Amino acid sequence: MLKHDPLANVLYLDLSKKSFRIEQRHDLFERHMGGAGAAIQLLHEECPEGCDALSPENPIVFAVGPLTGLFPLASKTVAMFKSPHTGNLGESHCDGRSAIAIRMAGYGAIVIKGASDIPLYIAIHGNQIYFRDASSLWKMKSGFTAGRIIRENEPGAGLRTIMRIGRAGEELVSYACVTTETYRHFGRLGLGAVFGSKRLKAVVVSGKRSLPINDKRLYRKVYDEIYHAAVNSPAMKKYHNLGTAGNVLSLNEFGGLPTRNLKQAKFEKALEISGEAFAKQYLGRRLSCSHCPVGCIHIAALRESYEDESYFYKTSMISYDYELIYALGSMLGVSDIEGLLKLMDRIEVLGLDAISTGVILAWATEAQERGIISKKETIEIEFSWGNYTAYMNAVQLIIEQPNEFYKRLAKGVVHAACVYGGEDYALAFGGNEMPGYHTGPGAHIGALIDARHSHLDNAGYSIDQTASAERHFTPEGVAEALLAEERWRQVLSSLVVCFFARGVYRPDIVLRTLQVSDFNFSIDDIHRIGDEIHREKYRFKIREGFSLDNLRVPKRIFETPLPVGKLDEEFIHKAALYVKAEVLKHPLRPKVSN
Ligand code: SF4
Repeated sequence: MLKHDPLANVLYLDLSKKSFRIEQRHDLFERHMGGAGAAIQLLHEECPEGCDALSPENPIVFAVGPLTGLFPLASKTVAMFKSPHTGNLGESHCDGRSAIAIRMAGYGAIVIKGASDIPLYIAIHGNQIYFRDASSLWKMKSGFTAGRIIRENEPGAGLRTIMRIGRAGEELVSYACVTTETYRHFGRLGLGAVFGSKRLKAVVVSGKRSLPINDKRLYRKVYDEIYHAAVNSPAMKKYHNLGTAGNVLSLNEFGGLPTRNLKQAKFEKALEISGEAFAKQYLGRRLSCSHCPVGCIHIAALRESYEDESYFYKTSMISYDYELIYALGSMLGVSDIEGLLKLMDRIEVLGLDAISTGVILAWATEAQERGIISKKETIEIEFSWGNYTAYMNAVQLIIEQPNEFYKRLAKGVVHAACVYGGEDYALAFGGNEMPGYHTGPGAHIGALIDARHSHLDNAGYSIDQTASAERHFTPEGVAEALLAEERWRQVLSSLVVCFFARGVYRPDIVLRTLQVSDFNFSIDDIHRIGDEIHREKYRFKIREGFSLDNLRVPKRIFETPLPVGKLDEEFIHKAALYVKAEVLKHPLRPKVSN
């Protein structure tokens, strides 16, 4: 790594004392590259074992990587924290302008600890750090408004990131998200609640600088190669045209689109909420993260007339993608596209994770259908499939938490089902509500064993759809494929490369991008680093109580046939044993630092 690369700077902020310090951590980035690799080390260093996830001791770590600002699609910021939702590893990635802003402000990582006595937001403009009073922004109805006020009061327009929470984070809903640049999110595992517990409304970061490289000619050559591969790749064209929403019809056709709390895996009205329908009727604009030529972010324009005024309209710009359409559409039986957009908008305004919210509402609908909860608990709300108005009202009550029932819903589906029953159809893996794939064993085993309990770390759904060799249909074969993918993704997320570009950033290209910043690794080195990061994440999870021996598997996934037939518990058990043996192959011991 180049000596004067600002990536080595780690900014430590203490909200209790309203103080900060900057440390040079070449050791961290030289060994672990950045992103997920640097963040998990900082989490081990800063998070006391067994601490309450909503206590001041729980750190928030943001980290970017050596390619950020230099190469296209290296646009992610990795956040790590102890999750208030699952009680173990909290990891969430977000893009927008966040990564570039942190790098241009002169940092590779930011660590936030402590808790403020008053609501505040932090403004980081290069090496100028401000702790600003945010009392007037706290409890504001809409996260958009809070964001707009910050925008108007902070410098750095066009260069800065604004990461902020909504009411959900303030009310410590365990699956509250953090929003950046209005439409992008640290969505999963409750980073918003950790912000809320620290009375931290937002973090603004901006900066301007040039970045050092050691070989201009190589830089130009590798840059062009990546850029052209990205803009000419058919996968990227697909992401640009319809976005991930383009997967609705293909997954439905495949028989893998969870519908009505996964009572079915095909939605008879999928066409009405498909990516094609959204694009045709509502697509208002496409956006891109900073330094990305793809532009996969799709924003719908929803025009609604004011009740008592003719010819007066309000236009809401609402981001949508596959996961939102699944969680708030098919999973809830919502086929009215306008109603679906309104529900997405409500959840965005409040700052909730849309996937968790949809799965929790789906469980509540089935629970009410089966009579295990009544209108007494729901405060007269009739949950019924497709009734988006009821869901919008319920979402508001999850924020207000007027009774025990909504307090339970604010803690997630596992928590609610433990109290009221219906655990067999409470669709969460490792405590995190399920992503939108019932494509085969890979999707469910992937969510059970991956570090984030989501679809993001090992893409089990993709393994299901491309499985060909016989071994891919055995528990060991599925587990092996999932682990290999997850370990390689640790490399990509240490370089903070968008996973949509995983086909572009092949190992040989990765090595050459790193050479530009004087990281001289071999292919074996980067694979070893990926394996180590994965083990370090597991070390944190196990330290905080996660175990592969007592995985909770909702029975519903065995009842609704997969495209390849029915899954059984034995298959999952064997796959988990394989993963356990692999993870524990090298002892999960703390590393001795130099
Ligand atoms: S492909 Fe999409 S999500 Fe990935 S960096 Fe580009 S715009 Fe952002």
